[in-house]
Amino acid sequence: MAAPKKDDLSNLSFILNKPNEVTFSERPKPTLSSPHDVLVAVNYTGICGSDIHYYLHGAIGHFFVKDPMVLGHESSGTVIEAGEGVSSLKVGDRVAIEPGYPCRRCHDCRAGHYNLCPEMAFAATPPYDGTLTGIWSAPADFCYKLPDNVSLQEGALIEPLAVAVHIVKQATITPGQSVVVMGAGPVGLLCAAVAKAYGASKIVSVDIVQSKLDFAKGFAATHTYSSQRVSPEENAKNILDLVGLPRGVDAVIDASGAEPSIQTSLHTVRMGGTYVQGGMGKPDINFPIMALCLKEVTAKGSFRYGAGDYQLAVELVATGKVDVKKLVTATVAFEKAEEAFKKVKEGEAIKVLIAGPNEKI
Ligand SMILES: [Zn+2]
Ligand SMILES: [Zn+2]
Repeated sequence: MAAPKKDDLSNLSFILNKPNEVTFSERPKPTLSSPHDVLVAVNYTGICGSDIHYYLHGAIGHFFVKDPMVLGHESSGTVIEAGEGVSSLKVGDRVAIEPGYPCRRCHDCRAGHYNLCPEMAFAATPPYDGTLTGIWSAPADFCYKLPDNVSLQEGALIEPLAVAVHIVKQATITPGQSVVVMGAGPVGLLCAAVAKAYGASKIVSVDIVQSKLDFAKGFAATHTYSSQRVSPEENAKNILDLVGLPRGVDAVIDASGAEPSIQTSLHTVRMGGTYVQGGMGKPDINFPIMALCLKEVTAKGSFRYGAGDYQLAVELVATGKVDVKKLVTATVAFEKAEEAFKKVKEGEAIKVLIAGPNEKI
């Protein structure tokens, strides 16, 4: 199929004006700003928890939406124009779009962890517009060509999968290990799946919502545990009894951001084990720091994704190791974006994809 022409495409965009107030408007079409950039017609965009948070509250942490901002950052698309210096992609290629662009020059970029770049321009993080738009401009090396057996819908799920890849790398999972994942939302589910791909043999998904646990069981978890209203120590003991590992598990990933889950994590991990904080919740909590100390736990944060993570996410889908399609509850037309946001907000869906404004569904 021939790639669409820029002149024939709309650049209709889904814009957050202020909390709970969104509009659609035709924005000027982007142009190539460097010979190393490509223009991509956006095909599908997944709704993320962070998009919902901006929609409801207009801010996350110290990022405030001051001016109207286009939402969305989990997108796939089709290359419609490539700069003269681009050799890795050509017009018509289908790509997963990595939506954050680091400066490439600072200490953190040079040290190999560009996700920590202080100059990062990340889609739908103020003041930068997001990808719920018709045409997106990006450096070619941040667009990953999808193999023929990976659909554009799957391509939109590479972003949350890359988040999970980064978290599991931080957890240094090796074959045969035991892993507990707190939270069975999209990122928690994907962490369980990536841990499985890394060879973990016992994978426990923990949540408070039974339907999420039922889904987790059919996705990647070997065990599921429904958190009880008991102490973190008791929840930890129940989890360890369930998997028959009284000394604790090798790694615990928190993909919930919830204080009781984080507390339970530290009582679930074994002596010398690893704990990774991937979920974002309250900025300050009560933390069982004595357990961290006495067990010599390695504690790490995880933020977005860095070198190699997006490419590995594409490989995991292409080789059938992670079936991201299962997470898609619905795909809706661009005009239904606001309804889709409401659906996700109500917790009625795992992942909803919004088709690009030029995409017929
Ligand atoms: Zn996201
Ligand atoms: Zn930088």
